[in-house]
Order: sequence, then structure tokens, then C-alpha cells
Amino acid sequence: MMIAPLEAPRMTLDDLKQEALGDLAALGYPSAPWLSVLPRPDAAEIADVIIVGGGQSGVTIAAALKWDGLRHIRVLDRGAAGEEGPWLTFARMEELRTPKTTVGNEFNVVNLSVRRWYETRYGRQAWADLSRIPRTDWKAYLDWYADVFDIEITNHCEVLDVAPEGGLIAVTTMIGGKIEKALARTVVLATGYDGAGAWRVPPFVSAALAPEKFDHTNGPVDFGALKGLRVGMLGHGASAFDNAIKALEAGAASVDLCFRRARLPRTNPHRAIETPGMMTHYPDLSDTTRWDIARFFRSADQPPPVRSFETAMRFENFRLRPATPWLDISQKADAIHVTTPDGVLEFDHLLLATGMDVDLSVRPELKTIADKIALWGERYTPQDGTEDARLARHPYLDGFYGFIPKHPDETWVSRVFAFNSSSFVSHGPHSTSISGHKHAVPRLVRGVLRRLLLDREADIVPELECYISPDLPIPDDFESAIAEANRQAASATETDTPAVRSGT
Ligand SMILES: Cc1cc2nc3c(=O)[nH]c(=O)nc-3n(C[C@H](O)[C@H](O)[C@H](O)COP(=O)(O)OP(=O)(O)OC[C@H]3O[C@@H](n4cnc5c(N)ncnc54)[C@H](O)[C@@H]3O)c2cc1C
Repeated sequence: MMIAPLEAPRMTLDDLKQEALGDLAALGYPSAPWLSVLPRPDAAEIADVIIVGGGQSGVTIAAALKWDGLRHIRVLDRGAAGEEGPWLTFARMEELRTPKTTVGNEFNVVNLSVRRWYETRYGRQAWADLSRIPRTDWKAYLDWYADVFDIEITNHCEVLDVAPEGGLIAVTTMIGGKIEKALARTVVLATGYDGAGAWRVPPFVSAALAPEKFDHTNGPVDFGALKGLRVGMLGHGASAFDNAIKALEAGAASVDLCFRRARLPRTNPHRAIETPGMMTHYPDLSDTTRWDIARFFRSADQPPPVRSFETAMRFENFRLRPATPWLDISQKADAIHVTTPDGVLEFDHLLLATGMDVDLSVRPELKTIADKIALWGERYTPQDGTEDARLARHPYLDGFYGFIPKHPDETWVSRVFAFNSSSFVSHGPHSTSISGHKHAVPRLVRGVLRRLLLDREADIVPELECYISPDLPIPDDFESAIAEANRQAASATETDTPAVRSGT
């Protein structure tokens, strides 16, 4: 149900922005700039940080770095303005999967919180009545948040490569078909859930069917074209249910949601590790524990959100098919034939809620760096029976999300930070999600600042020695004026002495 914004709000979102800015000022935002500008012969700016990705992570990181006194921050996103992240493109649920109280990008500033934003727009009662935050409101809130921090995103900007250049990082971009290069001291990859690879279409599907016969649920889907068609869905995650609902609303003749498990998962184990202790100190856990947690989350799926599940189940032409793996697929004249243990199912179109593949080599921005990054498979030897080829392909990140070079002489690699799904094994499954930001962003920010500080370690003492920032409001010649005054006082005393004596 859509909630209408308040007709006569007590305050507007612009008023809220002013309140938030007042709070920030009271908390000392932003810190004074502390990095000297690097000189360049061609006068082009060298960014302190280039953030690839203007989704919720990119924007929150930019805000936090700005707070900590960085002034040369660029945020690049290949999406159109306002379409950063999945929220208005391929996320198709009505509301977020995250509970409305599990938030954390507001840095404890109440007037920056999504709750205050929502109450300002729709009223306090509306927030009280809300079960989860509507997806489109979440994105509108993120846009407002970026506006409060005055974060500019360069849109339609695809990052094609990240490579070393004279002690810096060269970021190659394509904007409007034009290739450009920007230099940065550090780079943060905030490239999202598919940042370590690509959405996965099982090869047995793509090999058997023409591309127009199937879609991945995390890509563009022409739902209008599904009208009257029998749709086969593979997978039982949230996206499977959300896409099934969209297809049925668009007039699909039926949707059969097929999955291998005998029953849908009931419990969401992710909630069990979203604790402050766990999320703040995750990388301090041993390699074995982190590996075992990652293995657990590979096998334990989440249930679909209640609302998506209930909405889908209300459609008469929606069928849930547990214990129905797809064994074979073939295109026949009349239909796509999907062989299952219970016989052949016939469909006109397939939707694949099959997640993503971890494959750094398919990411354009990782072209140069991919084979220079240390991986879990090289750093950790799993105990017998706990091997996992997919987990082994994840980067073995340092405690601050930085890549670690495979070879120690490739030091530039550690100037690149992976705040995306690459961090799944090293930092846990939640870093980039809404529940993770509160704990994960400060860690990433510490890593970037640490790198920038260490880079200029040789300059610290010389700069300290010529540091000038007068606290006392007195002129430079104050001491010589005092000396002169003392001299005059002393000579006056000498002249006066006999008189004093004569008076005794
Ligand atoms: C359908 C769906 C629903 C979800 N629902 C929830 C939820 O309810 N709660 C939750 O916590 N999480 C949810 N997630 C996980 C969700 O993706 C993250 O929480 C959130 O989007 C992460 O934010 P991010 O900024 O890290 O990445 P994203 O929001 O994905 O942003 C990454 C950005 O990087 C840009 N980008 C990527 N590569 C490049 C490149 N080479 N050049 C330039 N730009 C690039 C993209 O255009 C994108 O805008 C959902 C994910 C999906 C797919």
C-alpha cells in the first residue's frame, strides 16, 4: 500500500537537511583538510580517493571521508543519476529485506537517520505503522543523504581499469564513449553485490536456449513480454519471489518456482551474526573460523521475506515446487522442456534467480589488478573436507578491506580497497549491506586514512617544524617589543636608584 506524503508537514525535507547540517556542525563536521595537495605539471587534480560506485556504500564512505578532512574525493558510477545501486533498476521488492531499525549510515546523528527522514515525509504514525522501509523510499532517502553531504556523483561513468602510475593509481573511465584517465592516491571499489564477479546464468541453460528465452532476475526483464506465457523460475531466494510477483502482475499465465531443497528455509541465519561484537571485530577471527562461517552461509540459504512469500502465494497461477532441481533443458517446437525428477515441465520463458559467480577476471575495473591480488585459496589451507573452490577465489583482504599483493613488490595493490562482495570471506557477509555500514564503514575509512598518512610519513616532521598557526592574537615582533620595553624599564630603574636611596 502506498502511503501519501504529509500534506501540511511540520517541517520539510529541506528543513530536515538544515537540522542535520546543524547537528553535523555541532559535532565538528567537517574536519580541517590535512593532506597537502600533490603538485602535478599538467595541473590536473589528483584525488585523495576515487570511489568506484555511488550506491549506498559509496555515498556513506564519501561522507565519512569528508568528515575526516579529505577534500579531493571523486565518486564514479556507471548508472544514470538517481539510479545508483539496485533499488530503482533490478530490485523488485516492495520493501527492504532489512528490518527498519537495523540502520547505520547516519553516524549516530538522529536528524540524518532514515527514521527522521520518513517521519518528516509521512508522519510519525506512518513510521510506527511501518513494517519495513519501502524500497523506493530507501533510495529517495539515500539521495537526500548524498545531498546533505554535498556528494557529487559522476554518472554514466564506467570504470574500465585500475592500474599503477608513478606511485599513484590511474583509473581509466569511459564517459559518453570517451576514454579518460584520472589519478588517485587510493581507490575504493564500492561496486556492489556482483563486485567480485557477475550474475550467474547456469551454463546448461545458456547452452540450450536462445538468449531471448531466459533472463537473470538481477538484470533487466521485459515483464510486459511475459503476458500469457508460462514462466519457469529457478531458485527460491528473495529475488525469485519478487520477480515471480512482477511476472504474474504483468499477466504471465503461470509461474512455477522450482528449487532443489525439500523445503523452504524458515530461519534467516544472517540475523544471528549481525551483532556489534561480531561485525566490529570480524576480521580478527581466525582464518579457520571465517572460512567455516563462509562455508555455513554458502549452504544455509535465507528464506524469502514474509511479504514477498505471502504475496506470491496469493496468486492462483503461482506454484511452489520444492525438491525440483532442473536436470536438463531443451528447446522444443512448442515449449522449453525442463526435465525434473518428477517428469518434464513445459515453459515459454525462464527466469533464473541463481545468484552470482565469483570471478574477478570478468570485472572490467579489475583487468590489471585481478591476477595480482592474494586470494584465500593461496593463503589458507582448509582442513580436509572443508575445501571450497568458490570461497578460495575470494580475495584475502587486510583488516581494512585493502587488497594484499600476491607479490610483495606490487605495493600499489594495497592502495585499492574492496568494499564489495569480494570481502565476503575476509570481513563477513554484511559489510556492504544496510546492517553492516555502522561497523564496516569506520574500518574501511581507518584503512584509507592510514594509507594516506603512511604515504606522507617522511613529510610529517619537516611539516611539523614549519607549522604556523598562531593561537595568540599578538604581532610577530611582540617579543622584541617586550625586550625593548624591559630595556627601557631597566634603564629607568638605574636612573631612579639614587633618588630612592636618598629617600631612605
Ligand atoms: C534485489 C536486491 C535486493 C536487495 N535488498 C537488500 C536489502 O533489503 N537490504 C540490504 O541490506 N541489502 C540488500 N541487497 C544487497 C544490496 O545490494 C546492498 O545492501 C546494497 O546495494 C549495497 O550497496 P553498495 O553501495 O555496496 O552496492 P550497490 O548499491 O550495488 O552499488 C554499486 C554501484 O557501483 C556501480 N558500479 C559497479 N561497477 C562499476 C564500474 N566498473 N564502473 C562504475 N560504476 C560501477 C553500480 O552502477 C552501482 O551503482 C539487495 C540486493 C539485491 C540485488
